[in-house]
Amino acid sequence: MRWPDGVECVHCDSKRVTKYVKKASTRHRLSAKTGQMETKAFPARILYICLECKKQFSVTEGTIFNDTHLSLDKWYMATALMVNAKKGFSAKQLQRDLGTAYKTAWYLGHRIRKAMGLIELAEAEPLTGTIEAGETYMGSKKYDARRKRARWDKEPVFGVVERGGKARTYHVPKVTLAGVVEKIKGNVSINATAIYTDESAFYGTVAGTVKNHNHKTVNHKAKGWVRGDVHTETIDGYWGLLKRGVIGSFHQISIKHLNRYLSEFQFQWNHRNAQDIFVLVMAALAIGSAMPYKALIAVAEEDRGPKANSDGEAF
Ligand SMILES: [Zn+2]
Repeated sequence: MRWPDGVECVHCDSKRVTKYVKKASTRHRLSAKTGQMETKAFPARILYICLECKKQFSVTEGTIFNDTHLSLDKWYMATALMVNAKKGFSAKQLQRDLGTAYKTAWYLGHRIRKAMGLIELAEAEPLTGTIEAGETYMGSKKYDARRKRARWDKEPVFGVVERGGKARTYHVPKVTLAGVVEKIKGNVSINATAIYTDESAFYGTVAGTVKNHNHKTVNHKAKGWVRGDVHTETIDGYWGLLKRGVIGSFHQISIKHLNRYLSEFQFQWNHRNAQDIFVLVMAALAIGSAMPYKALIAVAEEDRGPKANSDGEAF
């Protein structure tokens, strides 16, 4: 998966490499704790040597699987569990199922979500057919119970969904006309049959800005929200599932990491009929993480881990 066009040296990109099997070995050392000699077994492994720069490397070198010092088994298990959880999988659950520390489970979960996000980016093609667009608001239950319903305390998420097709969602700082138009233009084919939105103030003007699109709005308040084909039930259903997933699996999620939860949910929705999503996610983890050292450090900084909170999801 890592080198679809043949093995390349991770140090100098040369294709002149040779492979060899490092035999299984055991090492002995004096334990500082017990004062006894300890024997540690090292299984056989495949290594490569570059014929240009003479350096050696393994297939996982420079990828997430090597840098985290977690066994590949844990990565496989975590990925298998997460791709099969249609409604999301919390770090707490991963911790229980894998038998790792909470922080390890948290890190695994977020790297897998990130890989799902990469797949979504790579597979993003213009949506077509009948489109529904709209926004929802998400926020922490713990933030302030008294102002729970206040929209301005919550984080806007904008989305476009193709009926019977794929969805695209974004955590946005604010829902603005310019932002909505940009997202519609960026995600919807000009050959789309129709775009339906609800009757929020600015959606009325979307029609004039998004040319070549047949745009209709649905007035929820007037109970006129199902006029034959003109409705926003698909996107409303998506928001319903997203919120139930978040409440049911995560209890509370961090605004900082909201985009990753959105990626996970969007990936599940868009791959609801797909086969082999396990392989897809593993490939994205391997390829997406095989990046230059500087970029890797930047990612590590960003993913430093949960701040605290032992009972719920990280925040
Ligand atoms: Zn080399």
